Amino acid sequence: MAATALVNIGTLVTNDATLGNGTLGVIENAALIFEGEQITWVGPATEAPIADQRIDLAGRAVLPGFVDSHAHLMFAGDRSAEFAARMAGSPYHAGGIRSTVAMTRAASDAQLQENLTRLVNELYSTGITTFETKSGYGLTVADESRALAIASTITPETTYLGAHVVPAEFADDPAGYVDLVTHEMLTACAPHAKWIDVFCDRGAFDGDQARAILRAGIDQGLMARVHANQLQAGPGIQVAVEMNAASADHCTHLTDTDIELLAGSNTVATLLPGAEFATRSPYPDARRLLDAGATVAIATDCNPGSSYTTSMPFCIAVAVRDMHLTPDEAVWSATLGGARALRRTDVGRLTVGARADILALNAPSHVHLAYRPGVDLTHQVWVGGRAHRVAS
Ligand SMILES: [Zn+2]
Repeated sequence: MAATALVNIGTLVTNDATLGNGTLGVIENAALIFEGEQITWVGPATEAPIADQRIDLAGRAVLPGFVDSHAHLMFAGDRSAEFAARMAGSPYHAGGIRSTVAMTRAASDAQLQENLTRLVNELYSTGITTFETKSGYGLTVADESRALAIASTITPETTYLGAHVVPAEFADDPAGYVDLVTHEMLTACAPHAKWIDVFCDRGAFDGDQARAILRAGIDQGLMARVHANQLQAGPGIQVAVEMNAASADHCTHLTDTDIELLAGSNTVATLLPGAEFATRSPYPDARRLLDAGATVAIATDCNPGSSYTTSMPFCIAVAVRDMHLTPDEAVWSATLGGARALRRTDVGRLTVGARADILALNAPSHVHLAYRPGVDLTHQVWVGGRAHRVAS
């Protein structure tokens, strides 16, 4: 198999502290070699072995491709009018999801596929090389299972979110909807899903409903993740930790107990800066989580209602500016943090044996991701060793 060497890397983020400086394991004047889908060598350029092909990066920064552990890409239509109304003073509430549900049910398979492909191309262009996507805008057996069947053709990280919100037709019978989600809908969706998720919050599902939904999914071989504490402090974090969820997502409103639970668990706290940004909500106190020792990930939460961004650099910039992460912490959270939130060990790092998911920036350092907000800094992205974006 042909070996490709990336040489003349100004700063290489490996996310392995034993290989370089700081938590990010930064190597200056570095080289990296990959063969097929795997990285076979990293280190100082002066020590690099000969490879079949050489790509000179002219001092650019290189880092692991971003791992986006939370996105909702299976939908149709948009909600720009709702966004405009919200920016003019209307509050955000979970019920807005229902308008996307109506548009998604009305869309053809080809329209869903086309929208997904468009969004995935955007994700790759911003440097995201692993992404999760959820169902949750179908909310019928047929619509949820077709969303997951389509999604599973493009990512292994598919999440069954039949428990996104109670659909209008079950407004008077939420228990009936939980029964559908935990039985017939689950049976139809489980073959196409790796994860099960529930929106445990005001206006969505309560703690007992969330436990029942996650338990049913776990019994079918799915792994748990939870939308927790976005709109208010509640039982979401406790449920996530109890069910050994890989991730509790949003974490906007946390009590001291929630923070202790997360810090003492195997559950990653996934922060979604785009959601607070686009709903003009208070940001979570990420410093409390980090100082307590919790593992923190950053994800896009790409969805048409409350965070319609595919840009991880944007999320990093907001996490640094408004959640008070350092640039190094934000980059770690968007790479290895995301990998932990998906319980993946092959991505989120640039070390021997990891997948060749690589982002080269038109900048000398990863700090520029936060320092130059709104600027497209992507020079080249490799996904499993294959160039996605051809360098200009
Ligand atoms: Zn979400």
